This record gives sequence, C-alpha cells and structure tokens, in this order.
Amino acid sequence: MVVGKPLFTEEEIQAKVRELAGMISSDYEGREPLVVGLLKGAFMFFSDLVRHIRVPLRIDFITASSYAKADTTGEVKIHCDMREDIENVDVLLVEDIVDTGITLNYLRERLLARAPRSLKICALLDKRERRIVDVPIDYRGFEIPNEFVVGYGLDYDNKYRNLPYIAIFKRSD
Ligand code: 5GP
Repeated sequence: MVVGKPLFTEEEIQAKVRELAGMISSDYEGREPLVVGLLKGAFMFFSDLVRHIRVPLRIDFITASSYAKADTTGEVKIHCDMREDIENVDVLLVEDIVDTGITLNYLRERLLARAPRSLKICALLDKRERRIVDVPIDYRGFEIPNEFVVGYGLDYDNKYRNLPYIAIFKRSD
C-alpha cells in the first residue's frame, strides 16, 4: 500500500478550515457553543478549526470507532464519552469524514437525546456516494470520490495521521 500524491495540499486544507471557521463564527455570534471533536480522526482538523473560530467556546471530545458492515447495521462503539452536560447548550460536532453516515447518525441521535439547545455538524470530508444513512451536514469541507484517504488526522492502521495533507491510499500494484 502506498500514499499517493496529495488530494488536498496543506494550503488547500488550511484555506478551507479558515472558510468553515468564518461561517461558524458568524452563525454563532452572541452564543458560546460547545465544540465536540470526534477522536481520533478529527484531532488535527478540530485543533485548526477552533483556533480560527472567533466566538467564545468550550471544547469536549468523544472517542468512537465504527465497525460498519455491508448492511445498515454497522456498529458504533464509544470508547470515551464527552464530559460536559449538553442540556440547553449549542453543540457543534466536528467530524473528519462522513462515509456511510452510520457513525455520525448514531452520535447525533445519542446527543439529541440529551436535549441540547441546538446541534450542528461540521465535517471536513464527505464521501457522499457511499452514504447509507442520510445525516445533515451543516458545514462541509470537501466532497471526495469513493477512495480511501489518509493524512491530516485520518489513518490506516493508526498510521499517517501526522501528514499535513490528505492523500489517496492505494495498493502498490
Ligand atoms: P461512517 O460511519 O460514516 O461509514 O464512517 C466514518 C468513519 O469511518 C470515519 O470517522 C473514519 O474513521 C472512517 N473512514 C471512512 N472513510 C475513510 C477513509 O477514506 N479514510 C480513513 N482513514 N478513514 C475513513
């Protein structure tokens, strides 16, 4: 397996992050959102995004992994849940990539059950053609083709997360 040339360069990612943070800053003006990062994949996107958001905010994290199967019954496991109480709070969930939508849909329903004032979703990458469950994405970075990507937080076997760019991961033959 090899890492191909960048699909999105560091500069392109950073420009997109600033654009998303600008939209979030104006939409949340006068409010203090709780920004929740989904670990591990969103760690780099999350830290870049929050440093460009211009409203006061609080942060929290959820560590989850999904074991999506071919059908719609993919399982999501929460390894470490968030610590903040979200009742009557404006919550912004930050995700690295939406693929089938199973993970995000599961987390969204779980968070909505705790009665936040609002819940919005920000995802850097959207692999829309793979979607099984329809989830609303309020802030979307890039739509990408049906390819496995690594870098900028995204892994293969927990490696390549430190790459500052995003690349397609391919078989070497
Ligand atoms: P979903 O539940 O939407 O199918 O999957 C979401 C999760 O699958 C992401 O948070 C990510 O961990 C993983 N995933 C989906 N597509 C990719 C990909 O192209 N590259 C990597 N590294 N992870 C992916």
